[in-house]
Amino acid sequence: MIKDEYLPLLKKVERPGRYTGGEFGCTYKDKNAVDLRMCFCFPDTYEIGMSNLGVKILMHCLNKLDFLWCERAYAPWDDMEKLLRENKLPLYALESGDPLCEFDIVAFTLQYELSYTNAVNMLDLAGIPWYSAERGEDDPLVIGGGPCAYNPEPVAEFFDLFSIGEGEEHLCEIASLYRECRKKGMKKAEFLRLASHIKGTYVPSLYDVEYNEDGTVRSIAPKYEDVPAVVEKRIIGDLDKAPFPAAFEMPYIEAVHDRVTLEVFRGCIRGCRFCQAGMVYRPYREKSVDVLDECARQSIAATGYDEMSLASLSISDYSHIDELVDRLLSWTEEKKVGLSLPSMRIDAFYAELMKKVMSVRKSGLTFAPEAGTQRLRDVINKNVTEEEILRSCRMAFENGRQNVKLYFMNGLPTETDEDITGIAKLAGSIIGEFGGRAVGVTVSVSCFVPKPFTPFQWEAQDTVEELKRKQQLLRSEIRSRKITYNYHTAEVSHLEGVFARGDRRLCKAVAEAVRRGQRFDSWDEFFSAENWHDIFATVGIDESFYANRRREYGEILPWDHISCGVSKRFLINESEKARRGETTPDCRTKCSACGANQLGGERRCCR
Ligand code: SF4
Repeated sequence: MIKDEYLPLLKKVERPGRYTGGEFGCTYKDKNAVDLRMCFCFPDTYEIGMSNLGVKILMHCLNKLDFLWCERAYAPWDDMEKLLRENKLPLYALESGDPLCEFDIVAFTLQYELSYTNAVNMLDLAGIPWYSAERGEDDPLVIGGGPCAYNPEPVAEFFDLFSIGEGEEHLCEIASLYRECRKKGMKKAEFLRLASHIKGTYVPSLYDVEYNEDGTVRSIAPKYEDVPAVVEKRIIGDLDKAPFPAAFEMPYIEAVHDRVTLEVFRGCIRGCRFCQAGMVYRPYREKSVDVLDECARQSIAATGYDEMSLASLSISDYSHIDELVDRLLSWTEEKKVGLSLPSMRIDAFYAELMKKVMSVRKSGLTFAPEAGTQRLRDVINKNVTEEEILRSCRMAFENGRQNVKLYFMNGLPTETDEDITGIAKLAGSIIGEFGGRAVGVTVSVSCFVPKPFTPFQWEAQDTVEELKRKQQLLRSEIRSRKITYNYHTAEVSHLEGVFARGDRRLCKAVAEAVRRGQRFDSWDEFFSAENWHDIFATVGIDESFYANRRREYGEILPWDHISCGVSKRFLINESEKARRGETTPDCRTKCSACGANQLGGERRCCR
């Protein structure tokens, strides 16, 4: 609970509920009865952090350890940050109200690159030295994890270790070892050396990175023989046995996703070539209908929520989707609990499922063709045809939908202006076919950002100027007033592109940005392209080297010492097939031997 000295601040900030703690469902322990105190930090606002299922699952696992108490903290909004600094009050954890600098472990989930400045700024607000090398034995151990940990180098110097892959078991093993080492009076450096032997642990300080004259990486090598040259990710083999938090903290103020989120499966069978999640979360693993039904019943009973969403990368690929929806509907309808199925694939969408979904929730329908022509959809391996897009829109409109939202990207590899105008043509043909009805189409276009561990990790990102030219070209091509067109800010995607494939030299850019007050870079009201240009120039970073340069297959990539299980050979093959416009069938149709089923030397089925 918030401490008295902070209370006067609450009257001066918006949404004070972000800072009070004490929510229903919090975990409290006697801090004098535990050996380790840990704070899980979400480097963005409370409303976003409280919606993150991953953090709920990991805190649930960690708080099951009787020797550890895990609490939470979120990035304070600028009004609260200003007051904390003016009143010389440190950032604190919501459960106990204690300053983060008093904790043994501070962990950050890194969900997107533009949260990096917030993470370092939270260390600053907590009075914890930014750099791992500057932290002493009494400073907290700082851990990083989440999807961005697949290329942790741009923030490597700020973290003592990274948890690569799924953290349920890994973080508990790290906590147990840390407890043991401290009991034995061992130094943090000795602990880190031992921790590097635990699969899934990356300790940046135990690796040397060297660069070639041209700025590319020459080598990333462990300093000691016992430290693994490649850090392999961790996964949970049997998801039915994976811990699931039925009860969790209920936000005082509305969170972005204020409902029960039921994780149905991990991984994806599809293999879209731009999609990092579809690669790094492999192999594909499902939960059974029985386990899901039980988790759902417990969660609704424990939280009282009247809404539940089925979470996955592509829900309609769940092999028992009909049985699951029927099973859940058999009790949710009576309890007036709404069921939403986000991430429906446009080609796996059929009337029966639609009717079931529509019967419980009038949620918007969103499809992701991603590209405006069949040629480019084949290049990105989307495996969706124009007929399937029109068929799904017809089903949506015939079942009472008045608007469908279509997601596209611009800046994709091999893209031509014809592909851009193809987006307008496709939206136009939907309106053309159903325009007689009161229907509308929303076209939402993001900018392609090449990501590590995808077949497109070697591609050059379009320049900001080129992305903007394409955005205006599409605007000029969309003529119907029944089509709403919105697109992402190209400069923001450019910055994301710099950090997504950056190396350890970018740490100085993050530090300079924090010194200059850069925060919440993913929020329009705080993002400043000019500031970032100046920051990169000041620290001698050439942005285009990272964002707009095509890499050769032979180049050592800043993340080559991390393994997500999908082999580089497979990614190169997919990259070359993309160039030839060839598609790859989904995993259920045919295994393409990406390597994910070999993780940990154990052969697994993943279809
Ligand atoms: S090993 Fe085969 S089936 Fe499994 S994720 Fe890779 S390509 Fe798909």
